[in-house]
Amino acid sequence: MRMIFDPRQIAHAPALEMHNGGWTAHAEVPGRAANILAALGEASVPVDHGLAPITAVHDAGYVAFLEAAHDRWLAAGREGDAVGYIWPVARRRDVPLDRIDALLGRYSMDAGTPITGDTWDASYWAAQSALTALDAVLAGERTAFALCRPPGHHAGADYLGGYCYLNNAAIAAQAARDAGAERVAILDVDYHHGNGTQDIFWDRDDVFFASLHGDPRIDYPFYWGHADERGEGVGDGATLNLPLPHGTTIAPYLAALDQALTAIRDFAPDMLIVSFGADTYEADPISHFAIRTQDYVEIAGAIAKLALPSVIVMEGGYAVEALGVNVAEFLSGF
Ligand SMILES: [Zn+2]
Repeated sequence: MRMIFDPRQIAHAPALEMHNGGWTAHAEVPGRAANILAALGEASVPVDHGLAPITAVHDAGYVAFLEAAHDRWLAAGREGDAVGYIWPVARRRDVPLDRIDALLGRYSMDAGTPITGDTWDASYWAAQSALTALDAVLAGERTAFALCRPPGHHAGADYLGGYCYLNNAAIAAQAARDAGAERVAILDVDYHHGNGTQDIFWDRDDVFFASLHGDPRIDYPFYWGHADERGEGVGDGATLNLPLPHGTTIAPYLAALDQALTAIRDFAPDMLIVSFGADTYEADPISHFAIRTQDYVEIAGAIAKLALPSVIVMEGGYAVEALGVNVAEFLSGF
């Protein structure tokens, strides 16, 4: 299976994230990509599709902010990584604020996702990797794997968060629609709910979004991913959330996956985008499922039975030493 990755995705390396009341070492480290590359071998570099497929999903003001944010942070006399400390919640969003701290709040949802001098390039090329994997599938390959780093599924149309800046899966799904696929399904099997992807397609009936994830009553991102979220307007019913408890093992996981796959079959898409996170792994340091390395073959095998052209996009997975083998097991199941 073709793997797409650009070396420019490596340099992005935020130092710290706000977690449990203090600044701790950032979990989304460059070694994640290095470990996957070591396990899988040669990657193809992505083709540059430009900004258009990115702004087809993301707000143009947000994209301009993301590209310039770290320079503006430095220009404000700051050091290190740019991160917000105040969020607008339900207050004024219409005031054209220009202060970097106001913009960081306006365009983010947490303090776990700092912007470094390399964030824009890494995010841009991660998105191009997803688009290039889509090209391979549109050209007739059954599946292709985009080693996206940073990941994407927490990023909404106009916000970053959860280590994510550009929503690679959403960008690929929209590009598939624009290339002529009438219906696209996104299956999110990262440990965390893909809130950004859900938000982007919330009121649409042409992109189905299904997610299996840690119950947001006790896990990040808390405010999305509850079982009663089904989409809105014409999108009502085109979102499916299957929250699962801490300690979930392969048997109940496969039962929930079967529900998601049945719903996707009923939706009858032309194309599948898989947001794959290996943070469902039993030894993941920030997550709480009990999926074992050998289980990933079975999970992938069940998904592959959909027999759909599939773009697999890398999301999370923070047990760095085991990440490459977990990804390799998952891909082998296809
Ligand atoms: Zn995750």
